[in-house]
Amino acid sequence: MVALSDEEIENIYALVKRYWEDYLKKHGVGPLPQLQREGNYTKAALVLVYLAWGYPNTRWVTKEELTEFVRNYHPKTPDVQEGRHLGMQRGFYVASSQRRNGLNEEELKNAPRNAYRLMTLERPHPSWIPKRQKVEDIDFESIKKNYGYRCATCGSREGEANLRYPGETTRLQEAHRNPHKPLTGDNVIPLCERCNRADRDKWVYDKRGRVVGVAKAEVVINSIKKRYLPEAEVEKLKDFLVKRAGGDSS
Ligand SMILES: [Zn+2]
Repeated sequence: MVALSDEEIENIYALVKRYWEDYLKKHGVGPLPQLQREGNYTKAALVLVYLAWGYPNTRWVTKEELTEFVRNYHPKTPDVQEGRHLGMQRGFYVASSQRRNGLNEEELKNAPRNAYRLMTLERPHPSWIPKRQKVEDIDFESIKKNYGYRCATCGSREGEANLRYPGETTRLQEAHRNPHKPLTGDNVIPLCERCNRADRDKWVYDKRGRVVGVAKAEVVINSIKKRYLPEAEVEKLKDFLVKRAGGDSS
């Protein structure tokens, strides 16, 4: 059982917050996870705090250990994804032992499999692309609740068998309704891993998960090119589709 006292959690969080304000915020790293929501620590904050424990002398922490820690506060957590999200989405330099991400052989040598490590709070993650950052802290729990914890496109329910792949347990992910727009709460729908993987960045959805536009014109273009339409018409169609996706699609 891995645990920290409330006081320790609050102290570590305050330390992270100071570093974030001094070094990271100006690079667009963030948002800093809220420490609490509705009286409970948020998963993202718990993961960040746990990784920052002992900072600057941090260590590799396995996903299992992180999950165990988070379950003290969120007992139903299936699998903690926040280690990866803090790095790739928010820009914190949380390295993953599964990826190279700016680390050399020496630094990776003793890393356990499937582990995370907070490398520094003074620089953003070297592989992070700032434009993918979220522009607000998204309350994904509430969003999922609004959808009855079901995938918006196939209806599979979180924690239950996937409807199309019965051997797999459904895990809902934060997906864009429109990938051309920032990942704000209004632009998020829950999709199961299968739907998210298959449809990633191709379609524009309405709030009910119905396709209302094409985000990647190639999806349509490749199927008609040189078969039904002259090249000039294809180009016109492409322009139309892309403009439409970038515009209003709600
Ligand atoms: Zn689905």
